Amino acid sequence: MMSLLQVSDVHVAYGKVEAVFGVNLVAEQGCITTIIGPNGAGKTTLLSSLAGLHPLSAGQVVLDGADISSLATEARLERGLVLVPEKRELFPDMSVEDNLNLGAYHRRWTGGRTLRGDLDQIFSLFPRLKERRKQTAETLSGGERQMLALGRALMSKPRLLLLDEPSLGLAPLITRQIFEIISDLCRSGVSIILVEQNARAALAIAKYGYVIEQGRVVLQGLAIELAADPKVAGTYLGKN
Ligand code: ATP
Repeated sequence: MMSLLQVSDVHVAYGKVEAVFGVNLVAEQGCITTIIGPNGAGKTTLLSSLAGLHPLSAGQVVLDGADISSLATEARLERGLVLVPEKRELFPDMSVEDNLNLGAYHRRWTGGRTLRGDLDQIFSLFPRLKERRKQTAETLSGGERQMLALGRALMSKPRLLLLDEPSLGLAPLITRQIFEIISDLCRSGVSIILVEQNARAALAIAKYGYVIEQGRVVLQGLAIELAADPKVAGTYLGKN
């Protein structure tokens, strides 16, 4: 397996307050790598800094052999690094279809026909979105919004998807569907970094996992081994 993303000794701060302290992490090509940990551990901060939304105070991020540490978000997007944020960040008064098309904004020069084909692919992956294509995003249920956020990210043809708590606020049945979709995406060749509070579900679909506490990696390993680790089981697998 090749490593697609390498994160080396990354520090991220809000002003003088450090939230991420020297994190090292590797995401392999074609795999799901999960990052679990408690509230406030720094997972969202780490993920958004990988997407270029927060500058690093130290460290390096290498995508496919190229140092992208100082690239802007748009340039990272063009290299296939795409964040689906925790809050989904859809355009509520725009239609499902227009929200999806915005995901391909940076590919607008590739022409209408390709985008039409890509939209059809998204609709075959998410038939619910097809049924609701003319509805505004604000009229969707929580699960449908998450599908739309994933669909919009897929319209940008990602190589590495950064998913921030895709199960947040969703009922257990819908969470299961979303996790099945994430597994399918991985099988179709998209590499994924999955940040989750739902550690049990995340470790079940991931190949590799990292546990982050107070801004530091405290455990890492094969997801199957982490799920069996008494420290992980005791702290993170109790509730869900
Ligand atoms: P959660 O699961 O609750 O989203 P998290 O693991 O994603 O938690 P972060 O949101 O990255 O954790 O927060 C890490 C630390 O950084 C926390 O102490 C938090 O209070 C702090 N923090 C997050 N965002 C900001 C901000 N905009 N300004 C200042 N401090 C922040």
